[in-house]
Amino acid sequence: MNMIDLRSDTVTLPTPEMRVAIANAPVGDDVYGEDPTVNALEAEAAAMLGKAAGLFVASGTQGNLVALLTHCTRGDEIILAKRSHIFVYEVASAAAYGGIQFSTLDINHDGTMELDAIRKAIRPSFLFYPPTRLVVLENTQAGAHGAPLTAAYTAQVAALCREHDLLLHIDGARLFNAAVALDTTARRLVEGADSVSICLSKGLCAPVGSVLAGSEDFIHRARRVRKSLGGGMRQAGILAAAGLIALREMVERLRDDHATARLLGEGLATIPGISIDLSAVRTNMVFFDVADDAPITPEELSQRLKDDFDILIRPYDPRTRTMRAVTHYWIKPEHVERTVEAIRAIMVSTGEQIVG
Ligand SMILES: *Cc1c(COP(=O)(O)O)cnc(C)c1O
Repeated sequence: MNMIDLRSDTVTLPTPEMRVAIANAPVGDDVYGEDPTVNALEAEAAAMLGKAAGLFVASGTQGNLVALLTHCTRGDEIILAKRSHIFVYEVASAAAYGGIQFSTLDINHDGTMELDAIRKAIRPSFLFYPPTRLVVLENTQAGAHGAPLTAAYTAQVAALCREHDLLLHIDGARLFNAAVALDTTARRLVEGADSVSICLSKGLCAPVGSVLAGSEDFIHRARRVRKSLGGGMRQAGILAAAGLIALREMVERLRDDHATARLLGEGLATIPGISIDLSAVRTNMVFFDVADDAPITPEELSQRLKDDFDILIRPYDPRTRTMRAVTHYWIKPEHVERTVEAIRAIMVSTGEQIVG
């Protein structure tokens, strides 16, 4: 791989060990429950998450959609962060296919929604109101620069949910990043949640797939919803084989990605025209701004990095001057150094043109 691709941890390729496991995986028809590799993956993921059962799904988006369609009925309302993946990046699928209404809340710097704000968003029972059914937490919270939510915070939200007879779903696409960053287990981070979805295909490097976990009854119902969405995947053990390696071999090494993210952040902080809040670099995401008065836009910087240096970094949101870089298995410290020096060279040369 000659490109240094920092657009996302979704660009990770399967490891050589995964390719061997894929080639040798015992498989069967998973729609009949007969794929031993899928069954092993579902059981192992559920155990790691402290839940009774698991369900292999095509993607994180499908995992969240299956969870919401299983938990809610049409006209229900769910409470979630305004900057959550489900609200921003899932094509409003829960609204489109489930008739589910979103009640969105702001998040703090640490990724949390205020408990009091959640409490106030819960609708009292009243003829005119939609019933509040569920709260979603996202861990890590990508909209807060990948902040990990602590077990203590999640336990407080879970208690609030129980008190009001609400369900709790955790979008844990990067839950293992949170576990590693907080020196705890994924299981501890989802205690008290009714369901959790995790991605195998981000930092954990599997080519495809997510796992949704919850109670036996929930997963039984979720399996029917997955089937209705076209998610019954037959000899899916080919994919699950890589997922098993993701869970067994790839979790602890996420620490390396957090270290390279920090290295990148510290390097960027030394470049004129780049501003970065280093306290916000907590997992594998590095958000930084191209200063308002810098003679280059994020789009131009992105283009020059690609054209002149074979480095891919995206503007995060075309309406702002923010860019996002995500570290992963294929990004080593030397790639970080090359990236920092490339950005420095571009910023310094464009600065000189203006001065000259
Ligand atoms: C990536 C991601 C998803 C969706 O996963 P896909 O596999 O891309 O559909 C859901 N939630 C969060 C927080 C994510 O980062």
